Amino acid sequence: MVHSWRDTIPVSDEQALVRDSIRDICSEFDAAYWREHDEAESYPQEFVDLLGEHGWLGILIPEEYGGAGMGTPEVAVMMEEIAANGGGFSAAQAIHGGIYNSTPLVKYADEDLKAELLPKVARGDVAIQSMGLTEPNAGSDSTSIETRAEKDGDEYVVNGQKIWISRVDATDYLLLLARTTPRDEVEKRTQGISMFLVDIEDAYAQDALEIEQIPKTVSGFVHSYEMWFTDLRVPADRLIGEEGNGFYQILDGLNEERLAIAAECVGLGEVALECGIEYANEREVFGNAIGSNQAIQHPLADAYTEVLAAKQLLYGAADTIDQLSQKETGAMANAAKYRAAEAAFDAADAAVQTHGGFGVAREYDVERYFREARLTRIVPITQQLVLNYISENVLGMPRSY
Ligand SMILES: Cc1cc2nc3c(=O)[nH]c(=O)nc-3n(C[C@H](O)[C@H](O)[C@H](O)COP(=O)(O)OP(=O)(O)OC[C@H]3O[C@@H](n4cnc5c(N)ncnc54)[C@H](O)[C@@H]3O)c2cc1C
Repeated sequence: MVHSWRDTIPVSDEQALVRDSIRDICSEFDAAYWREHDEAESYPQEFVDLLGEHGWLGILIPEEYGGAGMGTPEVAVMMEEIAANGGGFSAAQAIHGGIYNSTPLVKYADEDLKAELLPKVARGDVAIQSMGLTEPNAGSDSTSIETRAEKDGDEYVVNGQKIWISRVDATDYLLLLARTTPRDEVEKRTQGISMFLVDIEDAYAQDALEIEQIPKTVSGFVHSYEMWFTDLRVPADRLIGEEGNGFYQILDGLNEERLAIAAECVGLGEVALECGIEYANEREVFGNAIGSNQAIQHPLADAYTEVLAAKQLLYGAADTIDQLSQKETGAMANAAKYRAAEAAFDAADAAVQTHGGFGVAREYDVERYFREARLTRIVPITQQLVLNYISENVLGMPRSY
């Protein structure tokens, strides 16, 4: 695959190392691999295992726990490359949780738990792929969660329901957010939520967990689930961080994670453009390559400028994240996610249109990229909620809720 127009933004030596390694790994998984997994709705375990073998699932885990000890600028490259080399947003999503769910553990878990678990996560032997926050009545309004965790001796007893929780079929542990104090008993709605590490096998053994896969039209090989907890007993030493502080602990790494999502969107936009450009150059209609028509060229070129702008914003934010305040990073990370999702959508849309009828044929992949690009406007946070954040926290307008 030719990458020259993608490689215009300079990267550090460390980023170049990540880029080369991920490109190498991705070259073993061709378009047919991703297409087959999308059609069969089967998790790309071979791909995830190979990333694990090369140590990339531990990219954010400190070296003292066997990880690569890298940061946001390197994760951005990793996620962009996974998406851009044919995997699209879904391939990046297949491992996204596995990378980010360990960061609250690094920051907040007890030393014993970190020493026990993190080296295994870094090696790919243990997966913490799932994070459970969303509930039927708490999506954008996430502090409305009602799942309860009540202390009983040296255990917590969990009851409640979660929805849209991804990769439950591919994880050993779930990072669960549950209320330890009901919403009407706390001063601020962000208080009273706690974070737990739930052992999935143990939850089944207790007969305290039921799950049901949600049939959906996008990211076929990354499954999402509804989950029901009935008197699930979680040892008190699996409370991560401080009781009642779990929502703040999740917010802590949110900007970094949002930049990774932006990188996945940029990579998705790039792979869609590559497909569009290739087809525009190959397909002849009325005796000419369709790419010689400006009605075909311009939407692709226009989307390229959007992808490039989003990429510039993303890497600028990733490079300066250590020098900026939380608020400044929040502005850039949210702006990057917003612009990158819009760029991915426009790139995928242009690629579909370029393919004419084949734009909706599975064989040409752009239909999958288009479905994925639509999803990036909704997850992990909707574009409207990103704009709410920017309006209220960056531009200083009044809160609507
Ligand atoms: C494929 C997939 C995977 C997911 N994986 C996970 C996961 O692993 N873990 C997890 O916890 N969650 C997960 N989610 C849930 C996801 O984070 C939520 O779907 C998302 O936050 C939106 O919440 P909602 O679906 O309840 O929409 P709602 O909150 O019901 O919103 C519906 C619409 O109203 C708009 N809206 C609501 N309030 C406002 C407002 N004040 N101003 C403007 N617009 C507003 C929203 O933007 C949206 O367009 C996943 C979702 C999907 C689809």
